[in-house]
Amino acid sequence: MQRRNEGFVYIIGAGPGDPQLITLKGVNAIKKADVILFDRLVNPALLDYAKENAKKVFVGKEPGQPHRTQEEINNLLVEYALDGKIVARVKGGDPFIFGRGSEEALHLSKFGIPFEIVPGITAGIGASAYTGIPLTHRSLVTQVVFLTAHEDPQKQESQIEYEHLAKLKNATIVIYMGASRLPFVVEELIKNGMDKDTPASIVENATTPMQRTFFAALKELPEVARVNNLQPPLVTIISPCTFFSPKLNWFEKKPLFGKKIVNTRAKDQSEHLTQLLEAEGAKVFSFPVFETRAIELDSSLLETILQKNYNWLVFTSVNGVRYFIQNLIKAGKLEFFSGKKVATIGKKTAQEVNKYGFSVDFIPERFNSAKFIEEFTRKFNLQSSKILRIKGNFQVDPITENLRKYASVDTLDVYRISSLFPSKQEVDKILSESIDAIVFTASTTVNYFFEILGEQNARALLAKAKSFAIGPMTKESLKSRGVEHVFSAEVHTIEGIVDLMKEVFKTKEAR
Ligand code: SAH
Repeated sequence: MQRRNEGFVYIIGAGPGDPQLITLKGVNAIKKADVILFDRLVNPALLDYAKENAKKVFVGKEPGQPHRTQEEINNLLVEYALDGKIVARVKGGDPFIFGRGSEEALHLSKFGIPFEIVPGITAGIGASAYTGIPLTHRSLVTQVVFLTAHEDPQKQESQIEYEHLAKLKNATIVIYMGASRLPFVVEELIKNGMDKDTPASIVENATTPMQRTFFAALKELPEVARVNNLQPPLVTIISPCTFFSPKLNWFEKKPLFGKKIVNTRAKDQSEHLTQLLEAEGAKVFSFPVFETRAIELDSSLLETILQKNYNWLVFTSVNGVRYFIQNLIKAGKLEFFSGKKVATIGKKTAQEVNKYGFSVDFIPERFNSAKFIEEFTRKFNLQSSKILRIKGNFQVDPITENLRKYASVDTLDVYRISSLFPSKQEVDKILSESIDAIVFTASTTVNYFFEILGEQNARALLAKAKSFAIGPMTKESLKSRGVEHVFSAEVHTIEGIVDLMKEVFKTKEAR
């Protein structure tokens, strides 16, 4: 092959499952890449780091599906690199532990293609940390063995030296394999002299919200795997240190561990909630039901607004602030803010105002519209005030309606909300999962949720799961549609909702 350009390959370990377990170096390499080749066990969330136009190529093996051979993958790497591309080859765990990263690197070196290896947290180490089974412990375990029982099918006989392994003392043995190999491996170890009651554990889907950990004596492992229908990916840890797990298993004790939660927030706003929920151990399904788009204000409308001497600007969403200010910036009229007072319903919205260097004069103690009206009108005499209420294009706005009882109010729509129809696949996925909770952060979201799922599906889903509403209005929207089991946060913020969920799922009756 002729060298065309200077390409480069990063062989990156993505870690075992939790997307935050990739290294900074790994993330930076993904950000740089023109092409990303990724395996099945790589968390797809990591692809979000990719450049907008990066090519993403799945090269993993799906059970029962045709897949690329190792040789084809090697060739692809070379082809892309010779084409001058920066290639991120992203592999589960660590590339040099049972990951064939070395074979890929050797192939690259044959073609003189420059590369770097970015280490990752291997599944055994991830499982150790996330189950609280230390791989070593002073005076108890002083040696660790990683072994794979998948092995190369071409090999005539097993390279695993069971006779030595079975006799190791003060050791942790971490085995990378599926459940089907387990009976054979266990039998070999016992046959070669390992105590059949040696403490052990099997960890399924380590470091993810779907992690399951089982403890058993060595001889019982195959039965445990069978009874519990354990599915790959699995690691088996044979170690006296398994006894520490009840004390050290911090991960499975997280308040929302393993809970399947649907986040209905609009895409550009969903991340914060998702991050908070994931940090509590939840599996989050992002299911944005609408999107917001800026409305470009026509210049005569803007001119009219600018000429009116408003006393107050009232915002209830970050989007309202952002899209309004974008319009002002475009028109070169940021000075519109000067001499005007600003009221926002919550802290996030206030922060958005502050971002542009303006201060906020009023935030209610409690972040909901009823409190807003009550406190705002109590604190300020609005009799001769002119208020500009800046909002999305929703029809019903209790803030406007109620403020009109006290002052003259104009409204200005600065963004458009439209329902976002997910693919049938996405809808089916949500419907087929046993969802524990659905989070609604606005009553608009409730309406769109029903619209895009259809009455019947929405109802079916809400009947099985607990609904969490950010505040009373959202709760009311759900109730008015006949939804039961609605919890509504005392503190009407994203953090408030997450705290409430932790409370609700902590109580026994909720489980
Ligand atoms: N290079 C990878 C291993 C690839 S071999 C690493 O360093 O982790 C694939 C095997 O790794 C799986 O069959 C399983 O035994 C193990 N494995 C990978 N991810 C896992 C996970 N999240 N939980 C349990 N085992 C996992």
